[in-house]
Amino acid sequence: MNKANPPESLIEIAQAPLLTWVELAQADAQNGKLPSYVPQLATVDGDRWAVQIQAVNGATWGAGATDDIFPLMSVIKPLLLLFLLETLGAEQVWQRVGQLPSDLPYNSLTQLEADQGWPRNPMLNSGAIALAELIPGSTAMERCDQLQAWLNQRSRANLQLDLGMLASVESVENPINQAIAQRLAMAGYLQSPQLATYNAICCLAGTVKDLARIGCLLAANSASIQQTVNQIMLTCGLYEQSAAFAQTVGWPTKSGVSGGVLAIVPGEAAIGLYSPKLDATGNSIVSLFLLEQLAKFHRSLDSKDYK
Ligand code: GLN
Repeated sequence: MNKANPPESLIEIAQAPLLTWVELAQADAQNGKLPSYVPQLATVDGDRWAVQIQAVNGATWGAGATDDIFPLMSVIKPLLLLFLLETLGAEQVWQRVGQLPSDLPYNSLTQLEADQGWPRNPMLNSGAIALAELIPGSTAMERCDQLQAWLNQRSRANLQLDLGMLASVESVENPINQAIAQRLAMAGYLQSPQLATYNAICCLAGTVKDLARIGCLLAANSASIQQTVNQIMLTCGLYEQSAAFAQTVGWPTKSGVSGGVLAIVPGEAAIGLYSPKLDATGNSIVSLFLLEQLAKFHRSLDSKDYK
């Protein structure tokens, strides 16, 4: 058998069965829900789906609604971590937040209370709220601009702040996130219990193509910072489903409540996915199903020593 280049293999394997997988996943997603706590997220078309693979060698492949724009929401969390580790360094970051998994939901106050106000990892709301304050800048908008510009410049993505989405997020009280910020401040992990920066960076929006481009910043996986971020995504990226997904799929993956998902195939490619219907844990049903199928094929190539 000819030895194929692994990134191209991943792209090749995706093509033929993809539509069958999407049909199966959409059947599953019938029971899924759009999030209701952000009014604008509740109005999107739940049947949309998109996938984009970008290999580290530059090859790309996409299918579905690859031009749909959605807010990254929690998918921004590993990218916030990457930015801060690269620009401020490990010491400042790990003074604020830990690296331990959690079996409780992403916004669990019970977890934060059990940890006495210490945010146990940057993929939880507590960890990302604590870290958002470290972005250089004197206002939430300046901080959000910094992160946006850094990501866009490095990856050639075109993330834009979705001001309508931000207004929608801020039009409703989010008492849980507010309580998280208060508890963090009480424990000394946040100077000012504000959510403005966190809310703004969650509303950085783009397409699956942007997501895959940005993901390539993590996919090269050569530097220890990327390995650290990928490790945390692997153990903490999908909330309560993280451990099971790490076992079956094995790719560092981060989901957001908008239905966006970013998966890293270390050394090979980044995969951006979008489909808004969520399971009970808050993860995109179609996106995770597609990743499971892609990973199965990828493993079968590995086991034939296709590399
Ligand atoms: N901004 C959202 C929130 O804090 C992000 C959560 C998510 O995507 N899981 O509720």
